[in-house]
Amino acid sequence: MNDIRMLIGGEKATSASGKTFERRNPLDGTVATRAPAATVQDAVTAVDAAAKAFPAWSAMGPGARRALLQKAAMTLEANAPKFIEAMAAETGAAGPWAGFNVHLAAGMLQEAAAITTQIGGEVIPSDVPGSLAMGLRVPAGVVLGIAPWNAPVILGVRAIATPLACGNTVVLKGSELCPATHGLIIEALQEAGLPPGVVNFVTNAPADAAEIVEAMVSHPAVRRVNFTGSTKVGRIIAQTCAKYLKPAILELGGKAPMVVLDDADLDAAVDGAVFGAFANSGQICMSTERLVVDDKVADTFVAKLAARAVGLPLGDPRKGPVVLGSVVDMSTVERCNAMIDDALAKGATLVCGGKSDNTLMPATVLDHVTSDMKIYHDESFGPVKPVVRVHGVEAAIACANDNPYGLSAAVFGRDVARAMQVAQRIESGICHVNGPTVHDEAQMPFGGTKDSGYGRFGGKAGIEAFTELRWITVQTTPRHYPF
Ligand code: NAD
Repeated sequence: MNDIRMLIGGEKATSASGKTFERRNPLDGTVATRAPAATVQDAVTAVDAAAKAFPAWSAMGPGARRALLQKAAMTLEANAPKFIEAMAAETGAAGPWAGFNVHLAAGMLQEAAAITTQIGGEVIPSDVPGSLAMGLRVPAGVVLGIAPWNAPVILGVRAIATPLACGNTVVLKGSELCPATHGLIIEALQEAGLPPGVVNFVTNAPADAAEIVEAMVSHPAVRRVNFTGSTKVGRIIAQTCAKYLKPAILELGGKAPMVVLDDADLDAAVDGAVFGAFANSGQICMSTERLVVDDKVADTFVAKLAARAVGLPLGDPRKGPVVLGSVVDMSTVERCNAMIDDALAKGATLVCGGKSDNTLMPATVLDHVTSDMKIYHDESFGPVKPVVRVHGVEAAIACANDNPYGLSAAVFGRDVARAMQVAQRIESGICHVNGPTVHDEAQMPFGGTKDSGYGRFGGKAGIEAFTELRWITVQTTPRHYPF
């Protein structure tokens, strides 16, 4: 069992109240982690510590910040075994998913290190004679990052890496479902030698989330908020941020369509579908949530998909290598079981897998899904995937867009020009032609449209999100005044 601490101003901290909360393993219910249940005062103290560290960190040269972030990337990667163990214990995640998390998260720190020298500006022609006018990107202040459990290392690091590179100090609010995994990120940053207060870490009991978050958002030193999580909570965060006029980046839920056109290379499409649909048991915001397949090729595609899906190894990730580990909790099982019942009652057919009575859920494919079924619309966030058969390109595009979400999407087709035209008409922040819906790289502009939120992490878009753009002028000649 992990007994963890918060980090406030460089010091390990328990809650001022002495209270803790537990995270239990989803498979056997054993206590995986005990973590401090922060009070509102703890949360405010964490922001105060970040505010205190801001002047020195924001004034530090980019080379020094870059060196620390590079070191943090190495420390994080060196601790991969600890992350894999913590993720298996807290969320039931399979080893390959945990390993990929650490690897991409280390890449995000490397990318953040690289952009420290790219936070620039421009000289803008001025109509005032002798005025040298500049638009300068400068650090914003304290950034609050709120990250979820499902890709905990990637999303915990993403919440703070670019903000740090831009010269901001940060508070990471860990997920109640994986406080130890998020805590390991903070340890890696501390080990790398980040000065006290530059990174702070707060953990809270689930019931206290709303007041802890509001206390931090409302703190005058907090200048940016980023939240990755469900659309339901994202709306609450957006309202809280609006109340205190804090800009927010919201990376929310998804229902990624993967369109299989009639000329698709079906083996390539099946490879993309198996990975996109079943990586981390479907618990990824970019997971393929709806397979939109042209009816000319649907029989072959579904048969090939089922053959691959039934062979995916499923089991307790603590006991050996698997592709499908445990899902995060029984509520996922219940949600997915209900979606299966609903679809079958309304005429869908079960191609493989099926309902589960524990958190080891098999890869499940439902065929002939239609718009009157729950699974057509709602995020399953589990390994249960619908196939919707459509007739022709226009029907495929209409089906792909028949959804409030808009994070990721994919289109498979051999006529790449046609596939690209389809991709351009899909309403999503991200779309891959002949690639899976699950694809993330540190330098890419990552984010959604519609109910998947707004704002972008990654690369230049990340710099824009986490800096202030200031207009500065220098009058280089005597200035003319009208009076
Ligand atoms: P969640 O929204 O339930 O919880 C996330 C966070 O919200 C937690 O830290 C929690 O403390 C906080 N929270 C809960 N209630 C709150 C309240 N009333 N006020 C303020 N904060 C509150 O999300 P989850 O279940 O942990 O994550 C799964 C969801 O995240 C899925 O919908 C998934 O699609 C989405 N997701 C999106 C991305 C992306 O990049 N777009 C990535 C991963 C996951």
